[in-house]
Amino acid sequence: MNPALRILQQVFGYDSFRPPQAEIIATLIEGGDALVLMPTGGGKSLCYQIPALVREGCAVVISPLIALMQDQVSALHELGLRAAYLNSTLAWDEVRRVEDALLRGELDLLYLAPERLKQERTLELLKQASLALFAIDEAHCVSQWGHDFRADYLELDKLAVEFPAAPRIALTATADVRTRKEIIERLHLHQARQFIAGFDRPNICYRIALKENPRKQLLRFLREEHPRDAGIVYCMSRQKTEETATWLAQEGFNALPYHAGLSAAQREANQARFLREDGIIMVATIAFGMGIDKPDVRFVAHLDMPKTIEAYYQETGRAGRDGHSADALLLYGLQDVLKLRQMLAQSQGSEEFKRVEQHRLNAMLGLCELTTCRREALLRYFGETLPRPCGNCDTCLHPVQTWDATEAARLALSAVYRTGQRFGVNHLIDVLRGGNNDKVFQFSHQHLNVYGRGAQLSANEWRSLFRQLVARNYLSVDLDAYGGLRLEQSCRALLRGEETLALRSDISVKPAKAAKAAKRDKAQNTPPPAPLNLDPALWEALRALRRRLADAQQVPPYVIFPNSTLEELCQRRPATLDEFSHISGVGASKLERYGPAFVELLRQHV
Ligand code: ADP
Ligand code: ZN
Repeated sequence: MNPALRILQQVFGYDSFRPPQAEIIATLIEGGDALVLMPTGGGKSLCYQIPALVREGCAVVISPLIALMQDQVSALHELGLRAAYLNSTLAWDEVRRVEDALLRGELDLLYLAPERLKQERTLELLKQASLALFAIDEAHCVSQWGHDFRADYLELDKLAVEFPAAPRIALTATADVRTRKEIIERLHLHQARQFIAGFDRPNICYRIALKENPRKQLLRFLREEHPRDAGIVYCMSRQKTEETATWLAQEGFNALPYHAGLSAAQREANQARFLREDGIIMVATIAFGMGIDKPDVRFVAHLDMPKTIEAYYQETGRAGRDGHSADALLLYGLQDVLKLRQMLAQSQGSEEFKRVEQHRLNAMLGLCELTTCRREALLRYFGETLPRPCGNCDTCLHPVQTWDATEAARLALSAVYRTGQRFGVNHLIDVLRGGNNDKVFQFSHQHLNVYGRGAQLSANEWRSLFRQLVARNYLSVDLDAYGGLRLEQSCRALLRGEETLALRSDISVKPAKAAKAAKRDKAQNTPPPAPLNLDPALWEALRALRRRLADAQQVPPYVIFPNSTLEELCQRRPATLDEFSHISGVGASKLERYGPAFVELLRQHV
């Protein structure tokens, strides 16, 4: 049998490769380089772990996820592999021990923080060792344009020069065409074979709604659809993260904060609870999430709009790694757009940088304001086409009403122009609706010909219209002053009557599936129920055993076995170790370590 397949079955306990794992593995085994784009949960790790075992020497895995290295290495130990890591958390004697093991050829995999490669000592060490390959995980961190940029990743261009004999594989879950090019350039991967698996995450339901009362909207979403589920709530600022976590805890949820302002120890403790316990909600800034491989994150909610579609896709991608249905909910409003544009305007970057970022922000906004399938647009952004609307996003599930806003938009634009392009939305709405605020009279705006001509639309409808005009760049917002609106070039065609405009009627958050909410009961802080068709008592007993074993090893439960393995145990109830070994996810090492305990439990349960 081919050695890669043999290892897949014996070590990992899986029957067959998923496409394109086999090809990637063969490329590396033959000594070629590879660039791999595969969605989260697609199975990227096997792509370098198996070649690490087949090829002579140790595989070096570069990863920015220092806080997760311990867990990653523990998971490999569970599989019976010889793995270790080197990062700044290790004491000197521990470093020495790892280095010795590497030089003696006693390691299959070595995880390395990128900053280590700046040290001459590390390069010398690696040169003396026998190396199977380099795996560069989260390769998009090399992109200076990206949201996860790590300066230390720029050092990785050395690898091609210093270690020409070791094949290199760069992996990421999200990279638009520009980021891909940048990865190839910076990591000298021009010769690499590219493997771009579909980006689609069909089990994630994408929903984007307007912020009305965000707390109420979130609470309803959690209570009705995810009362006991693990999930992530993203906020833009540290303060909002703290406040939201406290508030959710008061509402009875197990919510914890995570942001760069917390001490390293606190962050680590909160992350460990999220990974190890059931039903924790992590309220976090974007500092949280990369590399989190918890399979059963059931939702990702954004209380503020991400800066780019790449960031949004990366963050929402943390939901539903196990392939079961999951929700991505984004609440956004005009304020978000203004804040992001302001941050961008004040950032240090070059004009070129700002222009590109503005472009990306506009694409994100475009996604929010869409009236067609969200997934279609998301995939298009990454260069893929979906043959038909997905049926699993809000616009597919609840088709959006649009209205012909051409006339209203012209009126709005002319109100901006007539008032001198310096007033904000509220005043403009007053003028359009014929309000009698002091400010109207102070500036004599009651004499303008647009005054009162927009009374047929409500203030909220006007607000929605202005937001969409800003989102589509017909109007820009003066960020230095008081949010005054100005006309942009692009509004000319509309003003001249050469263009019509269809806009979405705003809708609020709708449950993804109307029936889903009613079925769940509302009790919180109890574990999720057994999957349908399984004996609930057996399911609970298996989970309890898994938790005991996990606690003893100090690893998250899914490192012992994922839920899918427990489900199979429930259904097939293996009575002997030999039968147990045929369950998916049971390799030689786990058979030996955990087989007897599980078989015994199953026997008692009969
Ligand atoms: P990624 O890093 O791409 O997000 P992982 O490498 O963590 O994904 O894999 C996701 C899950 O799929 C893991 O539980 C892994 O063990 C499992 N997996 C990977 N490849 C296979 C396979 N060929 N057959 C069955 N399960 C697999
Ligand atoms: Zn859709």
